[in-house]
Amino acid sequence: MTLALQGLDEIRADQENFYRDLHAHPELSHQESRTAAEVAARLRAAGCEVHTGVGGTGVVGVLQRGDGPGVLLRADMDALPVREETGLDYASSVTATGADGNATPVMHACGHDMHVVCLVGAVELLSRAGEWCGRLVAVFQPGEEVADGARRMVDDGLAGIVGKVDVALCQHVLAFPAGLVGTRSGPTLSAADSMRITVHGRGAHGSMPQASVDPVVLAAMIVVRLQTIIARETRPGEPAVLTVGSIQAGTKSNVIPDKATILLNLRTYDEDTRHAILTAVKRIVVAECDASRSPRPPEFELFDQYPMTDNGPVVTERVAAAFAEHFGDDAGELPLQTASEDFSVIPRALGIPYTYWGIGGTDPELYRQAEVEGRIADDVPVNHSSKFAPLLQPTLDAGTAALTVAARAFLGTA
Ligand code: ZN
Ligand code: ZN
Repeated sequence: MTLALQGLDEIRADQENFYRDLHAHPELSHQESRTAAEVAARLRAAGCEVHTGVGGTGVVGVLQRGDGPGVLLRADMDALPVREETGLDYASSVTATGADGNATPVMHACGHDMHVVCLVGAVELLSRAGEWCGRLVAVFQPGEEVADGARRMVDDGLAGIVGKVDVALCQHVLAFPAGLVGTRSGPTLSAADSMRITVHGRGAHGSMPQASVDPVVLAAMIVVRLQTIIARETRPGEPAVLTVGSIQAGTKSNVIPDKATILLNLRTYDEDTRHAILTAVKRIVVAECDASRSPRPPEFELFDQYPMTDNGPVVTERVAAAFAEHFGDDAGELPLQTASEDFSVIPRALGIPYTYWGIGGTDPELYRQAEVEGRIADDVPVNHSSKFAPLLQPTLDAGTAALTVAARAFLGTA
């Protein structure tokens, strides 16, 4: 066992209380002030140099112990506009004002509360342990769910606060059995692009289609035709997802509207594929507009863009070896994920390699039962679901241990 982990028994009860408190008090993206204040206080108590207000509500804690390698660990802090339906006795009943100005229920439906508590715990353990040297930097990031929290921290001078570090590490709780950890080398999380497409028609009375250019029919043609990009233009075996998540036009059955708006989401693992698909989307939309006699060119707007998470092979190998030693058979390979993350913005800005791994959060018995019955998709809540809540233990122990042993694998020995 890593020497630093010997303190886990002493901090566990406090960690569990901290987790229940954070879970009951989730905060939306860029509103994480209560969480940030609690994190800052705990980092100070652990002896860190603490920087607050980085990129809004971001917090950075630094422990420097003589000369040695530098390791950056990152946790995200934000929750989602979801009404919690877990039935837990520490479930959230919080509401907040969302980005659209409307009141919304808020829930830690992605498990970022678990990330925060695991990282604070790892810092506490390493702070107590005397056997290492080097620089430990813990980054608590706001706004992961809105794709710009990492960028805001970088733009607010994160590099100057972080100083010299050699590697960046990050983890996410996912819907596989609690107690397991999974690493992966190379492409791990997809690049994500969202696009708003506005197509124009000519409005008219619903009884006089000859006077109109109908954007409803135009948008429908586009949605169908877009399905051919993955099916007919992308190499079989190349993972990519194109989803039209919203299509809006008109207000009334007998009024032909004058425009339609399509929102689509794209997931890719290769920059050439990403570029080819985005080019194909525009080509098809422009051609369908021509085919429909659209009076004005369509408009395209990209938003909520996440870079691909592409784990460095050398870093991943070292973390995987440390996990194999600590977790034994509970350490394995993480499958390719279609989700996306903005974590890699930070190591890219710092010019250092990184790796991002998964920790299980699902009740192992529930998972096993669902697997036996072929009902994983039905019975195992996934991230962002109103029923997603990591099993408090062993998820918390495993996540805290994972960060600690991974950091320890890079820090020097005093
Ligand atoms: Zn999420
Ligand atoms: Zn998340």
